[in-house]
Amino acid sequence: MLKPEYREIPWERALAAASPNVSSILDKALAGTDLGLEEGLALAHAEGNDLTALVKAADEIRRRVAGDRITYVVNRNLNFTNVCIVGCSFCGFGKAADAPDAYFHSNETLVAKCLEAVELGATEVCIQGGLPKDLDGYYYVKLIRAIKARLPNLHVHAFSPMEIVYGVEKTRLPLREYLQMLKDAGLDSIPGTAAEILDDRVRKSLSPNKLKVRQWIEVVRTAHELGIPSTSTMMYGHAEEPADWVRHLLLLREIQKETRGFTEFVPLGFIHSQTKLFQKGGARAGHSIHEDLTVHALSRVLLNGYIVNIQVSWVKLGYADSLACLEAGANDFGGTLMEESISKAAGANFGEYVAPGEFRALIRSIGRIPAERATSYKIRKVFEHPDAEERLPAQPLPVFAPATSQVAVPATGY
Ligand code: SF4
Repeated sequence: MLKPEYREIPWERALAAASPNVSSILDKALAGTDLGLEEGLALAHAEGNDLTALVKAADEIRRRVAGDRITYVVNRNLNFTNVCIVGCSFCGFGKAADAPDAYFHSNETLVAKCLEAVELGATEVCIQGGLPKDLDGYYYVKLIRAIKARLPNLHVHAFSPMEIVYGVEKTRLPLREYLQMLKDAGLDSIPGTAAEILDDRVRKSLSPNKLKVRQWIEVVRTAHELGIPSTSTMMYGHAEEPADWVRHLLLLREIQKETRGFTEFVPLGFIHSQTKLFQKGGARAGHSIHEDLTVHALSRVLLNGYIVNIQVSWVKLGYADSLACLEAGANDFGGTLMEESISKAAGANFGEYVAPGEFRALIRSIGRIPAERATSYKIRKVFEHPDAEERLPAQPLPVFAPATSQVAVPATGY
């Protein structure tokens, strides 16, 4: 959340105070022109007044293409097992099968959790888990069938490209056939997670056993061709460099030009404290507010014209940084979640549940209009006026207080 007076700085003034190069790049972006690699790199390295201009231009583009509503979905996360053989060094969630805290929920338990979620107003269930050694290759399809048998209208948003590739390996079915089988069972969309940074050099240092860039693209592209939309994500704040963000975003833009299957882009700040990657010195100490603002604003600018929805991950960023990013190009607050164990296991302080009324109060605190959406982004209800359920979370929200430069535009951003 930004200081109110800072929020009022017009984007034109911020651009006027930026360096000529950054100012002309942002003018181009505001005119709706696609930016290229070199231009993206200049923005990714923006500091001081240039960063301020990037944030303000991204917020203006957001206003033009997505309006002043901030959307959210009432959903439940289900992490069906934490047993995993992949061993990603950035993950604090995966456990060995014989670990004392390893678990694998039965389908009955998962269906019961879905029923409970629907009772509480959820329209979506988001399902991901670890990859246990002996997983039945048909496990995913059986779980979807079990849920849809009881709740045919609940949107099932499930299984990362990594899990899809694992299912393909286990069943030896062709990818297209495997995805079609999941779709026929009721799969509605897939999370575009397991993307981390779409560069095999970076991926090798994070998780040599994870699917390759080529495989990630093949899964999402095939899913989109079959009419299964997906989200798109990027993990930042670890061992990557700003140039990796730009290449990642431009790659997503190329896929989207072809398929139009991404519903949104979600930057995921790296939660470091409980991960081997950080503990062994292979990563910096997670994402900073500077990076949060740069990545969200950069994604709005580079994806303009292709992906309308930029989502903040409140479980990774917390409320205050999420609100700041919602003033730096983002327009969606994500899901209420009800339970989320992956970020928590890596050391995040957030990640259990936020009541819809708390979301709405947070949204209204920055002068925007809350709206509940479906997973597809179809608006379910616009909350033009505050209601009795709205209350700010108990934790106080810090306000970012930027320094003021000679041109009366914050010098260091936020
Ligand atoms: S990120 Fe996913 S695949 Fe990697 S270790 Fe964690 S649970 Fe397993």
